[in-house]
Amino acid sequence: MKSFRIILLLSLSLFVSSCAVYDYLFSINTNASINKESFVWKSDTTDMVIFYYEKGSSAEKKIEGIKKSTLSDINKLLTIIHVDKYDNQLIYFLVESRKRMKELIGYEINAGAFPMQNAVYAVYGEVNATGMHEFNHIIVHNLWGNPSSKWMSEGFAVYSDDNWYSYNLHPLSKYLLEKNKIIPLNLLSQKFNSYDDRISYPLSGSFVKYIIEKYGYEKFREFWEEGDDALAKIYERSLSELEKEWIEEIKKSNSSNIDYKL
Ligand SMILES: [Zn+2]
Repeated sequence: MKSFRIILLLSLSLFVSSCAVYDYLFSINTNASINKESFVWKSDTTDMVIFYYEKGSSAEKKIEGIKKSTLSDINKLLTIIHVDKYDNQLIYFLVESRKRMKELIGYEINAGAFPMQNAVYAVYGEVNATGMHEFNHIIVHNLWGNPSSKWMSEGFAVYSDDNWYSYNLHPLSKYLLEKNKIIPLNLLSQKFNSYDDRISYPLSGSFVKYIIEKYGYEKFREFWEEGDDALAKIYERSLSELEKEWIEEIKKSNSSNIDYKL
């Protein structure tokens, strides 16, 4: 159990420090990835996603499960944002380790999203960085445009996995509240990057979950497009009023079996 916890903690610290959205100014050459020497790819083409995974890799062994969960999770996301179909073909590269990622794209990350190329890169093996997070970045950025602030973008991406390292978002936020680790939302919105990812990401995810499930996706989309300054107009209440409602909601959760290392 102890070694499991250490592995979990290690994966956590590796992943949260590496979520990377390479915005429209950055691009990646997916053909160069496909043709990269020293990578022997296998590929499967489905309706929405072309999967590339290395021959003999952990991903190859589990590819049917990965395909199934990826496609079903993308459909769930499309339902949340009321879209029947995402027309661009998505490309999903799965590599065994962060070292292999560096060899492939030059960045030692666990996962990254490149909206311009509709490409997601993720490690599956050394750590499991699959999930909806990066796909959310790609699909939502391409359909709605660049978000007006990072906390919304990351919060929505976390919400589309609807958990943070297997913990449900509201119970984990309650746990953070009890540990006095909560970050006031006005600060989270103003300087998201200056906080510990292990706290800022799940809190943003929990808040986005609350406002989408309570007030609907249309208002959230407006909020995404217009930004924090328009929040009071869109929700007809201030950020601190929304924050109070959200805190009341998360207090209803049960955080008793959470053991989240900070
Ligand atoms: Zn992200």
